[in-house]
Amino acid sequence: MARLPLLLLLLLLWDVGSHGFPTPISETQEQDADIVQKYLENYYNLKKDGEKIVKQKSQSTVVEKLKEMQKFFGLKVTGRPDADTLNVMKKARCGVPDVGQYVLTEGKPRWDRTDLTYRIENYTPDLPRAEVDDAIDKSFQLWSDASPLTFTKIFEGEADIMISFVRGDHRDNSPFDGPGGTLAHAFQPGPRLGGDTHFDEDEKWTSDFNDYNLHRVAAHEFGHSLGLAHSTDIGALMYPTYIYTDEVQLSQDDIDGIQAIYGPSPNPIPPTGPQTPQPCDSKLTFDAVTTVRGELMFFIDRFYMRVNSYFPEVEQNFISIFWPSLPKGLEAAYEAAERDEIRFFKGDKYWAAQGQDVLQGYPKNIHRSFGFPRTVSSIDAAVSDEETGKTYFFVADKYWRYDEYKQSMDPDFPRMIEEDFPGIENKVDAVFQKDGFLYFFHGPRQFKFDPQTKRILSVDKANSWFNCRNY
Ligand SMILES: [Zn+2]
Ligand SMILES: [Zn+2]
Repeated sequence: MARLPLLLLLLLLWDVGSHGFPTPISETQEQDADIVQKYLENYYNLKKDGEKIVKQKSQSTVVEKLKEMQKFFGLKVTGRPDADTLNVMKKARCGVPDVGQYVLTEGKPRWDRTDLTYRIENYTPDLPRAEVDDAIDKSFQLWSDASPLTFTKIFEGEADIMISFVRGDHRDNSPFDGPGGTLAHAFQPGPRLGGDTHFDEDEKWTSDFNDYNLHRVAAHEFGHSLGLAHSTDIGALMYPTYIYTDEVQLSQDDIDGIQAIYGPSPNPIPPTGPQTPQPCDSKLTFDAVTTVRGELMFFIDRFYMRVNSYFPEVEQNFISIFWPSLPKGLEAAYEAAERDEIRFFKGDKYWAAQGQDVLQGYPKNIHRSFGFPRTVSSIDAAVSDEETGKTYFFVADKYWRYDEYKQSMDPDFPRMIEEDFPGIENKVDAVFQKDGFLYFFHGPRQFKFDPQTKRILSVDKANSWFNCRNY
């Protein structure tokens, strides 16, 4: 078995136990080592030639490939197959490598015309034909809206982009792998196979949030058919792993990518897409922040950023990964620890979640549930004091106090923020409580406030919780 030497090498590279004692090689580690090896071979151009890998030179190749992969995904660059790295490697993704022959920054293959044709060669039995047509149609539409490209569907003969559902080895040197893992792949612009897109028929294709949404995957693959490589921007359609979001749209990164190849869209209104917030941007602001079972979660637009004391590296992903039914642009969030609930606010609605489950019967109305007056149309920030069961709601320059045990607003509220929280500016973006202190957010700044002495203890950058020194 030609693969064995590399497998052994990967096992040797394995993280030893946290106290420095080597841990015995378990069966799981062997399976994981196999995952690592295949991943690096498939997506990071690691040579499949197993024999050479035992040489010292090759060992450094594996470490380099691991580092390359970790850098691509914004992971801590350790050169070792640690838990975070494995986590990413186990996610379903596109079959096009992140580096190597498909990376289109060198040579930049492109179509030399803008009027392209496509043909759906066969259909998946997973969906009605009309839904497949619709998913493919909408996916091309995204790219044509942002560029001078047009796509015409043809029903016979050779189209520029031939689309098919195939399984296993389908004679293009890139066999599919059964359910999960690789979902699809597409070839860069060119004759014959060029531009063609293959979907793995061993996946279950859907038109909703269930795995795997055909429109979401097709929109990504057609990016390759047009000459785009993978993006490291997690908000981009061209990010390599499968992430379902309610609304499939091009991010600004995707738009910049397609326009760099084909020029701007003739549309008089230049198309724009959402920018992905960068955790270490010193101007970063937040919509809402809350503790969640001992971790901190920061919300901004479609994204959350998460840190805890064990893994200070900030994790960023779509809110919909955790809570598919929550909207983007949350305005406030707090943890009601006594019920193990997180409550999320937007406009006059709120949702409650326990862990990853959004509870039945939500969204509910803030006026009916909490007794806010009609003049309150949204909440800026909220925090609940675990000790007292009192929840503080901040709205413009006022705040309300709600009793979680009595489930009613305390009398004599609202009060002015500046009276009881002196120094906190009149509009609060977000607030959370940790170790008895309140952390208020206003624009790119954060105020650490001591409720006992009613004093601001320090002012910091809003993103000071993220381990940004390495950036
Ligand atoms: Zn891809
Ligand atoms: Zn193929």
